[in-house]
Order: sequence, then structure tokens, then C-alpha cells
Amino acid sequence: MSQTQRNLDRKIVVIGAGASGIACATKLLEYGFQNVLVVEAEERVGGRIHTIPFGDNVIDLGAQWCHGERDNIVYELTRRQEEELLESTGPVYENYQCVRSNREVVPENVASRLKAIVGDSLVSRQLELRHCSGSLGSYLTNKFYETLRRPENADIDAVVAREFFDNYQKFENSVEASDTLEQVSGRGYLDYWECEGDILLNWKDKGYVELLKLLMRARELKSELGVLEQRLLLGTRALKINWNRNDGRVELELSNGENCIADHVVVTVSLGVLKEQHWRLFEPKLPVEKQRAIEGLAFGTVNKIFVEFPVAFWPDDWTGFTLLWRDEDLDDIRGTSRAWLEDVFGFYRVSYQPRILAGWITNVNGRHMETLPEDEILSGCMYLFRRFLHWNIPDPSSFRTSAWHTNENFRGSYSYRSMETENLGTGARELAHPLTVVSTTPEREREPSDELQQSRCDKPIVQFAGEASSEHYYSTVHGAVEAGWREAKRLADFYGQSASWSGTKSQL
Ligand SMILES: Cc1cc2nc3c(=O)[nH]c(=O)nc-3n(C[C@H](O)[C@H](O)[C@H](O)COP(=O)(O)OP(=O)(O)OC[C@H]3O[C@@H](n4cnc5c(N)ncnc54)[C@H](O)[C@@H]3O)c2cc1C
Repeated sequence: MSQTQRNLDRKIVVIGAGASGIACATKLLEYGFQNVLVVEAEERVGGRIHTIPFGDNVIDLGAQWCHGERDNIVYELTRRQEEELLESTGPVYENYQCVRSNREVVPENVASRLKAIVGDSLVSRQLELRHCSGSLGSYLTNKFYETLRRPENADIDAVVAREFFDNYQKFENSVEASDTLEQVSGRGYLDYWECEGDILLNWKDKGYVELLKLLMRARELKSELGVLEQRLLLGTRALKINWNRNDGRVELELSNGENCIADHVVVTVSLGVLKEQHWRLFEPKLPVEKQRAIEGLAFGTVNKIFVEFPVAFWPDDWTGFTLLWRDEDLDDIRGTSRAWLEDVFGFYRVSYQPRILAGWITNVNGRHMETLPEDEILSGCMYLFRRFLHWNIPDPSSFRTSAWHTNENFRGSYSYRSMETENLGTGARELAHPLTVVSTTPEREREPSDELQQSRCDKPIVQFAGEASSEHYYSTVHGAVEAGWREAKRLADFYGQSASWSGTKSQL
């Protein structure tokens, strides 16, 4: 057997079948590696991509939109298809109404100016943010009130402005997955690069699961798991990763009772899972720098609430509303079993779902909601609809929420860069750094002249992918895919393999 063939037969186990794990495994197959196995704790693939049938179509409990076009791997993958898979969601998250808890709708000329102030603070003032040493929260608060004090805004009611800003902070917490914006690093916010183009592209009537099918080539091969058929162990958890064997290989203990020896393991579990479980998952313990990255990078909870009505009770041109609580009305729920409702910040229309409104909730109350019985959550939502909206609201016909934190396979929604990340001087690069052993065996077919310089090298044996390991596209699916491809390429480079199929610019 040639060296190349031996290399392509190396056993590679990918832990996790979310976007990153699927991207990594399918890319490894493209590079020619044959012995690839994906181990997934859930009974389904997709991870934080979870499309389910609901209402008139499907809904996404996790990722919903492709955020941007330029240098976005997900967007570029869809462009290679004949069918237009993505579609603009339109200005749903711009044209919403701001409604106060006494049902008063904030007049459009005031609401649009308040929206412009917060939008401008983040979009056009990135230079200022670069020099900000504090939190995103303190930066935004200063900016908001500074702009509000300008003479041209003198007509805006100060109480309404504060209610708006309170609500806006909850919205921005959902973008970051933070509990409070004081936790988010102002400078770290800029680590995230927004891809140019439409940032709310939806998957029409198909849902985000369509991306997984594309990666696995499921439609083309007419099989549910496409190229990963026979290579996926669903409902199987990796319990222990022993990476300190004498032979430089890795031993995995799996929840199905089997042990498996691999040449390489790619870990794609969420940062939430790593935070909670790295102590017991890795044997020996992870190096200090890796532990610091896991501790320092932040991971929070964002949940969705889908309410289906028998008929739409809203006008055609209405896209949704945000909830502006008046202080005196908050007293009605604070200290009661409905206190958690304070953090539901808005309900919006959903593309291809004419009778559904989707609500969002973050932070400690978002986690608390996961522990409540369904009827209590639903009655809370109906309380909000009837408290804020002046229409006659029919009883709902169906209801579904996500619960990303209580599930031990996720422990939250997505990662962000916190003040702690900055204080510990750590980041995605440290998380992505592989665990290696010094390899003395020749790993590639080499030119005789290579002999000396390649006889010793660091061999990656445990690698880390997943959205949180993406330097600039963390918290997204395109970041997760790119991280999966990055780790597949690391192995291909190590063994001198080139992809049989050329990737995107950002991948290279
Ligand atoms: C509510 C919500 C909304 C979002 N909206 C968007 C959006 O609109 N656009 C966007 O781009 N992104 C969005 N995201 C983020 C996006 O979903 C994630 O960044 C991405 O899907 C993460 O993929 P991943 O492969 O890194 O991790 P995951 O999807 O978490 O995959 C990791 C897998 O590992 C498995 N696993 C865990 N532990 C073990 C173990 N011990 N053994 C075996 N398997 C294990 C898990 O079950 C999981 O399937 C959203 C996320 C949430 C939660």
C-alpha cells in the first residue's frame, strides 16, 4: 500500500454533526480521506440548525438567516445551485412598530429617529468603538443619550426614549447572546465581520436544513444523509477523549459502550458544552491556554417563541412590534410568576408563514422560560399580545419554543466576545489551536530532498472547530462551516492532500 493510500485510510472521528461537523466531514471526504466517522449525541443532524414542520410550512428553532453575501461561504454555496435557494426577508426587523404597554404606538417620525440613533451608533462609528476600552453597553448608553440631547431631538419624549433604549438593549443582547451589554467587550464587538449584502436571507419554504442537504449532497444522491450515509453514529455521545496514548493516537469512549481508536479527532461541540464538560471530556486535562480560551470566550442564550393563530389578525403591511414597558406597568408583572415576560422584546412576522408571529427572549429569563410548562409560556405570550396590541386577538392554534440552554448538547445559543475574553487576552485562535504530538514518521510521499526537514513535525491529533472557533464569523452558520473546512484543510495540508473540489475565496 502506498504512503498516500495509508494516509487516506487514517481514522478521523468528527464529534458533532452540526454545521461545522458536517462541513468538516464532507470536506475530508472531498480531500479523499476514506475513514471518516461522525459521532452525534442527538438523534438528528444539524445541531443549532433545527428546521421542523410547523404552521403552514417549516420553522427554524435555531439558525434562520444567511447573514450577508460577500465572503459568506453559505451564500457562495447556494450560488452554485441552479435554483435560487435564498430570498430577502425584507425590512421586517426595521419596519416594526414600537408599542408601549398602554397600547400606545410610538409615532413613526419619533420611532424612526430613535431607530436611526441606535443604528448609527453601531454602524457608522466603528472607529470610535475600536478605541473603546469598556463594554458595548457603556459605549451605546453614552452614544444614545449624547445624541438624544442634540437640539434636533429636543421634541422626543425622554420617557419614551428611555423605554425604547431599554427595549433596544434587549434586542442587541439577542444579537450578541449576552445577558447584559455590560458583559460585551466594546472593542471585541468589532472582531465580528459583517458580510456585505443582505444580512437577512431566508431559505424560503425549506428552512436552514437545506444547507445541510447541500453539504451532504443529499438531494443529488437521493439519500437523507448523502455522502455521510453509513458514516454517522446518531444518538451517540463522546464521553471521554483520551489524547495521551503512547502511540500518538486518540481513544474515544462512546455512550454506546464502544471504544474507538482514531488517528485524529475533530471536536465541534458548542462552547457551552466545552465550558461545562471539558473537565470530564478530556483525559488528560486540556492545556492551560485552551482552558483559558474556553473560559474567556462567552456563550449565552437566545430563545424563540412561535405562536400560530387560526387567522392573521394584523394588517398586511404590519411586520411586527417591539414591547416598550412603562415603569408603572412593569410593576404588574415584576415579583410575579410572569416576571420573565419582561425580557420578551418583540414579535415579528415570519417569511412563508402567514399566520405566525415569532417572539424572542434572551438572558436569565430566556433560560427560565425553558423550565416553565408550555401552557404557562403560552398564556404569558397571550397576556403580552392582549396587553400591548389594540386588536381583538384570537386564541392561538399552535405554539412552539426553543430550549437551547437546558439541552446538555448545547447549553446555550451562540458565542460572543466579553470583557472576560479581553481580560484573559484570549480568543478564537487559542480555541482553534490543535492538540499535537511530535511525529517522527514520514506522513507524506516526499521528494528525496525533503527528507531531513520533514522528518519531525507537529501532528494535530485533537482539533477544534465549531462557530466559537471562528475569528471573525463566530455566532453564525457561515463561521461554523468555515471552521469545519479549516480543520479539514489542516489535515489535508498535513498529509499533503489537495481538495478534489475547489472551495471559496474565504476558504482559501
Ligand atoms: C436561536 C438561534 C438562532 C440563530 N440564528 C442564526 C442565524 O439566523 N444565522 C446564523 O448564521 N446563525 C444563527 N445561529 C447560530 C448558528 O446556529 C450556529 O452558529 C451554528 O449552527 C453552530 O454550528 P456548530 O456546528 O458550530 O455547533 P452545533 O450546531 O452546536 O453542533 C455541535 C453538535 O455537537 C453535538 N454534541 C454535543 N456534545 C456532544 C458529545 N459529547 N458527543 C457527540 N456529539 C455532541 C450536538 O448535539 C450538536 O449537534 C443561531 C443559533 C440559535 C441557537
